[in-house]
Amino acid sequence: MYRAPLSYPFRDGLSGPEAAARTIHQLEKQVGAENLAAIVIEPIQGEGGFIVPADGFLPALQEWTRANGIVFIADEVQTGFARTGEMFASTHFGIEPDLITTAKGIAAGLPLAAVTGRAEIMDASHAGGLGGTYGGNPIACAAALAAIDVFENDGMIERARQIEKALKGRLQELAASDARIGDVRGHGAMIAAEFVDAETGAPDAALTAAVAKAAIAEGVIVLTCGTDGNVIRFLPPLSIGDELLNEGLDIIAAALAAA
Ligand SMILES: *Cc1c(COP(=O)(O)O)cnc(C)c1O
Repeated sequence: MYRAPLSYPFRDGLSGPEAAARTIHQLEKQVGAENLAAIVIEPIQGEGGFIVPADGFLPALQEWTRANGIVFIADEVQTGFARTGEMFASTHFGIEPDLITTAKGIAAGLPLAAVTGRAEIMDASHAGGLGGTYGGNPIACAAALAAIDVFENDGMIERARQIEKALKGRLQELAASDARIGDVRGHGAMIAAEFVDAETGAPDAALTAAVAKAAIAEGVIVLTCGTDGNVIRFLPPLSIGDELLNEGLDIIAAALAAA
């Protein structure tokens, strides 16, 4: 298993095609396309910092995998099931992965994960050849069917887009008057604010931790993420109401002002 750099527009300053060329170059030199079975990529990085790759990065990468017979696997565990304002984040980038992995939002909290993909790949294994101890648990599957019904029929994708507007509107307003917010990014109800030193732009993990701690003391549980621990991620439940969302944002804004 090898790791390769993603596109990170706020930090690397590369266009999507440039970042893809860098990734592809590294994979070709370190591994060799002919030695590569598959690549696994989050269309929008979760723990890594809610990083949205630059336009053109994912399509260029997919084109290269297709040309070289490499399976393109999108990890949609965090981004999937309406979270980003599309059923799957891959749709934002116009890519169609060969396989996707899903979990988290799939069954409204019941333990379930799935691998879904092109029949040509899924059917390559014999019946029962893909399995696990708890694979296909009937109660979890029933919960997933009910959850998918809600995503499709109760306007959850549209709700994620409304949440994006509310979150981005408020965070961009804060960023306009506070240089410590270096970047606001994301899609749907998966939005991040990256905190930096106002002078140097360097990641500011201490400020991020202070804001998170002050918010938690006021009852708003926030999660930080990013390699440098300087990102606060906003991923409210899609069922959250405007009033509660705004109350949470008020508390975070106050925590930032006090930090
Ligand atoms: C949570 C998470 C996982 C782990 O999923 P499990 O079903 O718990 O194995 C994998 N990828 C991403 C992007 C996640 O957020």
